[in-house]
Amino acid sequence: MVGHSGNGNGGQFPRLVLTLEVRGSTPAYLSPIRRWVARAVAGLSERHTADVLLVADELARDAYLHRGGLEVIRIIRRRHPCSVRIEVECAGRRPAASDPSRAADDQPDLVVVGRTARAWGAGARTAWAEISCEDPPASPR
Ligand SMILES: [Zn+2]
Repeated sequence: MVGHSGNGNGGQFPRLVLTLEVRGSTPAYLSPIRRWVARAVAGLSERHTADVLLVADELARDAYLHRGGLEVIRIIRRRHPCSVRIEVECAGRRPAASDPSRAADDQPDLVVVGRTARAWGAGARTAWAEISCEDPPASPR
């Protein structure tokens, strides 16, 4: 077993990195990408999984619609504390928009990311978000 682990069995490792390269892909890939992410986070709690899927979907969609296409999506799982970092690399360049108030104007998709992720950011050709289950986003009570 060298390096790669695609079986979603993150429980054995303190940190597990899974990378999907989709250069040249189209938004038609959103559905298979969603399935890949679901496998990548297999074993997480239901809520944690749902949050990761939501954020990964929005980051990927934003890359296709506003950033010239998605090239790479990376899932980084950590066990203690349980958290998932999602990173995407995009084909196109655009001004950085890591400020959620700006995102509201020019990146409506990323508003969802800001609500769900503990931390997130976006650069010219990358975007990332951290989703933990010990520190869930504030929700209406
Ligand atoms: Zn978790």
